[in-house]
Amino acid sequence: MSSDKQDTVKTICPYCGVGCGIQVKQGEEPGDVQFMPWGDAPVNEGRICIKGGAATEVVDHEDRLTDPLIKEDGEFREATWEEAYDRIVDELERIREEHGPDATGFFGSSKTMNEENYVLQKLARRYGTNNVDNCTRMCHASTVWALRTSLGAGAMTNSMRDLREAADVFWIQGANPGEQHPIANSQYFRQAVLEGATVIQVDPHANKTTRSFQIDDTDRHMHLQLNPGTDIPLLNIVLKTILEHHEENPDEGWIDEEFIEARTEGFDHLKETLEEFDKEAAAEECGVPLEDIELAAEKYAMANNAAIFTGMGMSQHACGVDNVQNEINLALITGNIGRPGTGVNPLRGQNNVQGTCDVGAMPNVLPGYQLVDDDEAREAVETEWGFEVPDEPGLTNVELSHEFGDSVHGLYVMGENPVMSEPDANRVAERVQQLEFMVVQDIFMTETAKYADVVLPATTWAERGGTVTNTDRRVQRMRGVDKVHENTKHDLEILSEVGKRLFDDGDELFEFDDPEEVFEELRQVCPIYHGMTYDLLGEEGLHWPCYEPGDEGDPYLYAEEFDTESGLGHIEGVRHTPPAETPDDEYPLILTTARLEEHYNTGTMSRRSPTLNRQTPENFVDVHPADAERYGIEDGDEVVLKSRRGEITVEAQVTEDTKEGVVWTTPHFAAASANKLTNDVLDERAKIPEYKAAAAEIEVG
Ligand code: SF4
Repeated sequence: MSSDKQDTVKTICPYCGVGCGIQVKQGEEPGDVQFMPWGDAPVNEGRICIKGGAATEVVDHEDRLTDPLIKEDGEFREATWEEAYDRIVDELERIREEHGPDATGFFGSSKTMNEENYVLQKLARRYGTNNVDNCTRMCHASTVWALRTSLGAGAMTNSMRDLREAADVFWIQGANPGEQHPIANSQYFRQAVLEGATVIQVDPHANKTTRSFQIDDTDRHMHLQLNPGTDIPLLNIVLKTILEHHEENPDEGWIDEEFIEARTEGFDHLKETLEEFDKEAAAEECGVPLEDIELAAEKYAMANNAAIFTGMGMSQHACGVDNVQNEINLALITGNIGRPGTGVNPLRGQNNVQGTCDVGAMPNVLPGYQLVDDDEAREAVETEWGFEVPDEPGLTNVELSHEFGDSVHGLYVMGENPVMSEPDANRVAERVQQLEFMVVQDIFMTETAKYADVVLPATTWAERGGTVTNTDRRVQRMRGVDKVHENTKHDLEILSEVGKRLFDDGDELFEFDDPEEVFEELRQVCPIYHGMTYDLLGEEGLHWPCYEPGDEGDPYLYAEEFDTESGLGHIEGVRHTPPAETPDDEYPLILTTARLEEHYNTGTMSRRSPTLNRQTPENFVDVHPADAERYGIEDGDEVVLKSRRGEITVEAQVTEDTKEGVVWTTPHFAAASANKLTNDVLDERAKIPEYKAAAAEIEVG
């Protein structure tokens, strides 16, 4: 398999979804790989955060997997690629024969590229199952669901550039760009704020976003520090405040009646839902003064262009779809959508979390979000591929892990680490051992790979090419330098080889010489990418939808109509659903979780990066001073944090960043990961787990 290799290549940072361009320089020896800025990179114009600057540190890390491994008698031994492929093919064939195709699951990954995820989902579907999913399930599945069904596309409605230029209010709810999307925050949002934009932050935790805009120190900006899991009542107060004001002052235009009439449906349902809604009681439940929420509503409604940013604080709840629907309601009734500087904008996590979904690595959709149970769409894809695809959605990744050892016996994992990333991680570690066969392809021996039967050594982001799609739907090319370890293989090469060996028609279906060949096939079955080619992507990339070559792609969506069946934006009133676990005598605290700037998700890469790990080498928990006093905890004490599912030992940070009664920790560290405590209850529709609220207790260690 060829790849376009040069001494210095322009590529994309492997961490967050902002999609910053960086350069990678190949030194004298393989493994001598250096970071270089890319001065006129389209998204970041040469600026970089701590993670991007340290990204090359893991490429030649001593922990890299260098040869295939096969487990025998509980121990790994080095194997040849032939042995590894034989074992994989034999086991996958056996499981399909004994238990049927739905007895195997396939996990794609947002750490890997569009072409690789496309081939993985094609492999799953040729195997005969829609049991293919990726880590987006854990971050924005509910956002994608709400946006797709109510507006048309599961993605940011706008682009960072038009938001910077046109927004005068940023409503940031459950997102922390100051920490998790640093360059978007400093390069785009901060610029708008310097030119007069107002920030309204809705978050249970004070964080780097709060500090970067000095939100707590100015009258202009606001931080509504709500209790975890009370986003619906808070937004219902906002919506009702706007409705009430409009009734008394229709000329002030807080509601856009013309827009509602011409472009939306469901407004009456929202009004009915809010008729009996008690704002005072709701404000008490949120833990935020009512007048503060009303003032925030006024600021949003009075804006010329108001943009909503939404993050995992909204999506990672059992009511995640409803949370995001209420943000959509707010944008639609005020007409803040369909033009620059407005919309509902999920800030996506990993550098290819958007693309992994776009290319169909999900159990209910084919490439381009075409539903597997839409006969016409599915048959069109089947015609291109030349084989039939099951017409029922498959299982999501948490649903699959619940079935390990029961109805699911095989698992193919590319670049994922479910033993750390899924909630109730102790359960996942136990269940994964019930599988008959698991193969993991990755760059390091992850917490999940330790339980695998076959481990395949893949190349890193800096050693291969392909495309990734960033948070504002911009598809961008990545390019690689020399492989560090001769016996590693690119993910695409591995998948292609497995496909060729596993199926009679494999040579025809999985013969790809390079990522560009895959992209050429992908664009034939993915309408929103159809107008893109590697040449047309160039260095700038293109926003989707891009239907025909020559289309420039849409930086903002829905200027004329929504992409729903009726062409209308869907408004729907929602009622509060409290978190599945609320505090009680045994577990009197609420645990919530979030990521740090210097680490990434399960820390597979960031924990091995000396620069990043030096910043924060271990997990910790934020405890409010009033709780610390009650429990006799001093700043820096070792404490045991417990939930109904497990416990972790961490250092306490006593701080007013968190609210009284709320403890806050992170999922990055293997020994003390928050996910040993989190709850795996799911949103009914999007199947995203409730990472953001669990009942907890704390003890001095
Ligand atoms: Fe990488 Fe995100 Fe930092 Fe940009 S903001 S350098 S994409 S981690």
